[in-house]
Amino acid sequence: MGRVVYINGDYMDEADAKISVFDRGFLFADSIYEVLPVYHGRPYFVDRHLERLETSLTSAKINMPKLDWSSLFQDLITKNGGGDLQIYLQITRGNQGVRKHDIPNNLTPTIVAYTLHTPYPTYIEKQQGLQACLVEDIRWLRCDIKTTSLIANILLNDEAVSQGANTALLLRDGYITEGSTSNVFAVDADGIIRTPPKNNFCLPGITRQLAIELITSLQWPLHEENMTKDSLLSSQEVWITSTTKEIYPVTRIDSVTIGQGTAGHYWQQLNEKYQQLVKETDEKK
Ligand code: PMP
Repeated sequence: MGRVVYINGDYMDEADAKISVFDRGFLFADSIYEVLPVYHGRPYFVDRHLERLETSLTSAKINMPKLDWSSLFQDLITKNGGGDLQIYLQITRGNQGVRKHDIPNNLTPTIVAYTLHTPYPTYIEKQQGLQACLVEDIRWLRCDIKTTSLIANILLNDEAVSQGANTALLLRDGYITEGSTSNVFAVDADGIIRTPPKNNFCLPGITRQLAIELITSLQWPLHEENMTKDSLLSSQEVWITSTTKEIYPVTRIDSVTIGQGTAGHYWQQLNEKYQQLVKETDEKK
């Protein structure tokens, strides 16, 4: 028995989880997704993820299915053994039965959910930091929509990985937009923290928002504003944020060492706060 997968109301073994070749998610990547964190068997930040899901679906002109999401998530977690994992949820426009671009009326969305078992990074791993490459952001102009149409992100990430780095940081018109799978923060020499503003050039990351709230609670100066490549490279600390990576230091960008080349003291405090948030509270909205 492999993982238990949810498709359109049914739970099944992953070997039996099948989608039509005429599903628009398969044909056109005409679909939206979410990744929610699960710690000690409980889904976290559910309301925030569902709100972003609905926003993305609305932008894509797909109706938000009316489901008892909490029960779905909890059942899926239980059936997959609980613990620390992530929930992957994908909603496609549906199975049209033909290959045709026009959006049909009254198509029932396809809903797929399963658990991902990517281990969260350990403190030691995070302390060593990631290596990143700067690459030109060639994606479309609606990067705020969490679509499964990710081939541009995949190719950009590969530009970095094929040079021996862990991830790509993206530049558009000379400004940092985000990472290929994350948002970006930087601390300058004066301790001012910057992250690119929420707009159509980046995903409104849930971890980004949580980090902003924690930084605010620490009363550190924070600016949501554009960052040039030079200001990024001269930062004392750089972090990426995402549901699976949490808040993760970047210690090298291209050939430039960031700060001392290991996780800095701002990250230490912020990471501690984040770990408290996800480990000590039960279910977080
Ligand atoms: N930007 C991109 C392009 C991403 O793929 C992700 C992770 N899916 C994020 C940002 C971070 O979003 P979150 O914190 O909600 O995981």
